[in-house]
Amino acid sequence: MALRKIITTENPILRQKAKKVHRFDPSLQKLVNDMFETMYASNGVGLAAPQIAQSIRVFVADFEDQKVAMFNPEIIKAEGEELGTEGCLSIPGYAGDNIRRAARVVVKGQDARGKPIRVTAEGWFARVLQHEIDHLDGILFLDRLDRPEDLREVREEDLVEEAAVIE
Ligand code: ZN
Repeated sequence: MALRKIITTENPILRQKAKKVHRFDPSLQKLVNDMFETMYASNGVGLAAPQIAQSIRVFVADFEDQKVAMFNPEIIKAEGEELGTEGCLSIPGYAGDNIRRAARVVVKGQDARGKPIRVTAEGWFARVLQHEIDHLDGILFLDRLDRPEDLREVREEDLVEEAAVIE
């Protein structure tokens, strides 16, 4: 496994719509392993491939007892609404408050071998999944802020204490 470099907002790759994965070869499992390792090393709970400059549709996430690596994810059901705080490994030093997300989602996609998988999530984990899927469409939490005052500067250690809101 290897740590990958996480890119930040200056890099236009974060704003591209990532490409769908059609060929499931063994290199994808290595990519997923590297993404988990990079995410854990940064104290994140989610990481999307564009954040390591790979413009393809895959993300990883691990929170409490839910761990997933999903290719070509699609939200097939979204219910309810919640406001919450988010941070992003690609936007270091900032957090966004009152970000509106569905409270419950069902997401379908494929694992690293192309096998269909489905994840049901609510609350915080549902938020993580929506944040990561946004990355695959070039969307950042900054785009979801209703009011400019909902963006604030934070020290990294505060974010970690605030329930690891780093994605
Ligand atoms: Zn992010």
